[in-house]
Amino acid sequence: MSKAIFWCRNDLRLRDNPGLSYALRHHDDVAVIYIDEADLSSPSASDWWRFEALTDFAEQLDGKLIYRCGNAKDVLPKLIEELSAEAVYWNRCYEPKVMARDSELKQQLKDAGTSVASFPGNLLVEPWEVLKGDETPYRVFTPFYKAALKHGFAEPYENVYSSSLSKLMAAESELHQVKAKAQRPWMSMLAEHWSISTQSMDQRIDGFLAQAIEGYGELRNVPSVDGCSRLSPYLHFGQVSPREIVARAGAKHLTGSFIRELAWREFSHYVLYHWPTTEEENMDSRFDVIPWINNVDQINAWQKGLTGIPMVDAGMRELWQTGYMHNRVRMIVASLLTKHMMVDWREGAKWFMDTLVDADVAQNSLSWQWTAGSGVDAAPYFRIFNPVTQGEKFDPKGDYVRRWVPELAELPDKWIHQPWAAPEEICRLVKFVPGKDYPMPIVDLKSGRERALSVWETIKGAAA
Ligand code: FAD
Repeated sequence: MSKAIFWCRNDLRLRDNPGLSYALRHHDDVAVIYIDEADLSSPSASDWWRFEALTDFAEQLDGKLIYRCGNAKDVLPKLIEELSAEAVYWNRCYEPKVMARDSELKQQLKDAGTSVASFPGNLLVEPWEVLKGDETPYRVFTPFYKAALKHGFAEPYENVYSSSLSKLMAAESELHQVKAKAQRPWMSMLAEHWSISTQSMDQRIDGFLAQAIEGYGELRNVPSVDGCSRLSPYLHFGQVSPREIVARAGAKHLTGSFIRELAWREFSHYVLYHWPTTEEENMDSRFDVIPWINNVDQINAWQKGLTGIPMVDAGMRELWQTGYMHNRVRMIVASLLTKHMMVDWREGAKWFMDTLVDADVAQNSLSWQWTAGSGVDAAPYFRIFNPVTQGEKFDPKGDYVRRWVPELAELPDKWIHQPWAAPEEICRLVKFVPGKDYPMPIVDLKSGRERALSVWETIKGAAA
């Protein structure tokens, strides 16, 4: 009887799962294991999602998911011995720290006589497959995207069929106890906004592909409408693979705006793979000397959605209450923090990693560096979003702001994005007291912008 382990990570799915399919095809008994390495003393929003996704995946495996906590380097060898497994398989993760650990572990297990193989993970192209003519990686999105399209996206791999699940080995799982212990009151607030099961996700994908993908290019920037897919957390945890999404969207949409956004996801993982320090360090070293201000009271106001700037506060409150924020608004809040407020982008990235259900090291660090101006293919530093004009353009009737900042709901559209400027008679009419019912702005948008630009002037001549 040959026994194998499939070590699942961010690939909690039966479809398009090359490692799990391979294990089931080549062995008589297969143990599916999950090793929880997170510090759960202070769980994040994405830990909540992870537990729910794991619970759903365990159900799909007829309950046969072996869940253990600890360091994979200790837990995996122990499980191999306990289960008398002769082989271990996993799908690749591409975060540099995880990749380095995995290759060390692979060698350690091979040296101990276990057969080990890894398979493609959750990307459309492996990061080393698309390079420039001189064999160096792309630093700019559009040429990367064109080269990736030319190279071709990987097709979905095999699905796991329910008939092969009889090969799964059952064992004690600590999942339910650990999940119960990690439960926090705020998690029920997030649960009101999401349905995490694969079944609900499939309905979401089908609905988006049938109704929204055609208008996506136009509506993806309007935060008050359901114009985006909201698939990011499912993609992060690998409940669905991007290969499957591309295949379901069909050839007609291959070069359309939706798949182009999915390619930004690819580019994020690509950049982190080729420039592993960009999770923590500025890609453009000129930013190393920026005198960040990091005012703690202002950072707190930003986190709580109390900056006095409606688009920003709406976004930060949407994030807190749902674990999600619309992409356009993510750019607006990140721009205010890093430019008008002069707060180090790493502060913002940290808060997002704690509060987003789709928190993803590669996408988060690339996007924060892009907004701050310090990353690859970054927005030029002088492009500083004005949250008022952004609001007027992308939320012209104020629907998004009214939903998340109800204390402004009665203000006319004209003043909804700058309540501090509303004339006295209007405020009296709608019984709104600026500074009392809603804070005055914590930064002056004009002088904040000028300050950021003057700092940029001092560093822009330095060699990158
Ligand atoms: P859709 O518009 O439906 O796009 C489909 C998919 O494409 C998304 O699910 C996502 O996987 C990918 N995608 C879309 N836009 C981007 C982008 N700009 N960069 C990379 N991938 C993209 N996304 C995360 O998944 N995790 C993060 O931690 C994260 N942090 C961000 C931080 C900042 C400051 C900014 C500006 C953006 C961040 N993004 C992050 C990217 C983007 O905002 C989200 O992927 C998107 O809003 C998710 O919503 P959706 O699934 O409806 O996206």
